Amino acid sequence: MANVDFATLGVVSCAEALAQKKYSSRELVSAMLENIRRSDGRIHAFLNVDENAALAAADASDARRAAGAPLSDFDGVPIGVKDNISVEGETLSCAGKILAPVRSPYDATAITRLKSQGFIPFGRLNMDEFAMGSSCENSAFGPTANPLDVGRVPGGSSGGSAAAVAAKFVPAALGSDTGGSIRQPAAFCGAVGLKPTYGRVSRSGLVAFASSLDQIGPLAPCVEDAAAVFDAISGHDPLDCTSLELPGAKTLAAVRAVARTNPLSGMKIGLPGEYFGAGGISSGVAKVMDDAVAALRKLGADVVEVSLPHTEYAVAVYYIVATAEASANLARFDGIRYGDRKKGADLVDTYFKSRGEGFGAEVKRRILLGTYVLSSGYYDAYYLKAQKVRTLIRRDFEEVFRKCDLLLTPVTPDVAFRFGEKSDPLQMYLSDIFTIALNLAGNCGVSIPGGVDAETDLPVGIQLIAPDLAEDRLLAAAAAYEKNVFSFRPAPFGC
Ligand code: GLN
Repeated sequence: MANVDFATLGVVSCAEALAQKKYSSRELVSAMLENIRRSDGRIHAFLNVDENAALAAADASDARRAAGAPLSDFDGVPIGVKDNISVEGETLSCAGKILAPVRSPYDATAITRLKSQGFIPFGRLNMDEFAMGSSCENSAFGPTANPLDVGRVPGGSSGGSAAAVAAKFVPAALGSDTGGSIRQPAAFCGAVGLKPTYGRVSRSGLVAFASSLDQIGPLAPCVEDAAAVFDAISGHDPLDCTSLELPGAKTLAAVRAVARTNPLSGMKIGLPGEYFGAGGISSGVAKVMDDAVAALRKLGADVVEVSLPHTEYAVAVYYIVATAEASANLARFDGIRYGDRKKGADLVDTYFKSRGEGFGAEVKRRILLGTYVLSSGYYDAYYLKAQKVRTLIRRDFEEVFRKCDLLLTPVTPDVAFRFGEKSDPLQMYLSDIFTIALNLAGNCGVSIPGGVDAETDLPVGIQLIAPDLAEDRLLAAAAAYEKNVFSFRPAPFGC
């Protein structure tokens, strides 16, 4: 325990400490396990941790290092994993009862890549059931608390991932983002969260929520760590037919170059007026945005007002497209093909019981909505119309990126809210307003801590958005902001 500095816990800092032999991977994993045993009772970031698997992987890494053959710079570094990403032999409950008995038969491609570079998949992180939610309150196994204020939510659906990073339980974590589920919890917990360009990270082994929107990405304490994990998991995968035929990203070099150059100088950054409308954001978020714009200008960026005119339709389009896809994707969890079977009087009754008892209220709501918008008679009016508007939203971004290198927006209308504060589902849906358009359009975005809300002392996230495949530009700009303007380094939880 003594040698591990939890205050600076991160992917790069752990890799350096391992290389310098400050501690072994076994010592690191053991210290993390002790920390989690002591403090996770109050946070509930983890659904479970397979201690033996983590320790065995750490021993294997230590043996590789002792033999003088580490596979990569990050050999022996643990990474937390959201419970909807397959790790062979581990749970894959998606925080729902229906998949509670399941153990993954294979690794997701993102996990295969991490393992092949020596990273250690570590524990199963809590989430909203089937990634549907914005607060982690929809987990069938109880919510996760925000380590910065345990009376508040960590965001969602990757709330466990964000909380584990903020509490310093893990050096980084994987999450998934369908409509903001990496960026919004990162913002609520003061972490960095990247939603990669659609197709850049394989979805093979990610339990599908809405296949045309889902992407796996990193949550990390700083931009450099997020870049390291993104580089490790990205690249073409024949197992995912929507995977882009491109090699893995190399953003870490772009991020590290920020030590020598200022990528913001001369960059054109657009502020979409629709994201700053009257009453849309709290005064604390507005203040951080104003300060961020001033700081970016001081660093040489040309900040200009732009327009994404179809923004107002994004939430409506998302809740048609995402629920339609979810209703199809979740049809397989019926107690016969997949999932926990509840015995009924006959086959139909078995379906009713398995799905009725196996799914939580929010998941059922989405399946009903999705089935409705796809049903004959309503398909044209809702689903087809939504797809057409989706194209217009995508074109808004294409248009604006003819004039700008990046966009700057808020991530959330306000800081992390209190448990139970958004009990009306519609209110909860509307809180995704700034993150959703990006998933519909497919390009990449990152949430980084932009500043602090004066009233609550909680972090406020800012979102940088880039065109397709421009993650290197995106993360370099984020790193420059982090280096020159604001970085957020909370103390380890419980210290
Ligand atoms: N909060 C959004 C929803 O409930 C987004 C979730 C996600 O990105 N997985 O659908």
